[in-house]
Amino acid sequence: MVSQNSSFRYALDAGAFYAGIPFLSSGTHCTTNAVFEEVKHIKKSYGAIEALLDAGILHVIDPDKNSMKKAGSAAKNTGDYQKLSQADISIIALALQLETTLLTEDYAVANVAAALKIPVESSSSKGIKETRKWIAYCSACGRAFGPGAKECALCGNKLKRKYKIT
Ligand SMILES: [Zn+2]
Repeated sequence: MVSQNSSFRYALDAGAFYAGIPFLSSGTHCTTNAVFEEVKHIKKSYGAIEALLDAGILHVIDPDKNSMKKAGSAAKNTGDYQKLSQADISIIALALQLETTLLTEDYAVANVAAALKIPVESSSSKGIKETRKWIAYCSACGRAFGPGAKECALCGNKLKRKYKIT
């Protein structure tokens, strides 16, 4: 068990990994299993992520149920719940539980975090030049949809989300 303190510099959402933050930013960071599952398919950086774990720079911790509940109900209150994945909710909950600054560029995540008075920094202001945008896509037919879409209009599959570099 990790004690509840702010020994972590940032709680990292998936976008922070896509932006390469854990590799650029000094300090010790934390993320959740759900976020880790989302980003570990990036094969070219998977070895690098493993190395961060080995070096103790990155810690994978799951938030407790109470924090998950608080994050979930805050998201419902702000109206962002539909836009968030379980991974998003989990990283908000972890930042809340560990009193850690949340690093994200997802507007909905930042919005819910602000409602919970979690300090938020934008990963895109950390010297990242590319602009990335969340899109929802169907893994069966490959069609892309707006970030709020949940199901493929064509085949009815649950959509996945990824960053698109614009
Ligand atoms: Zn489809």
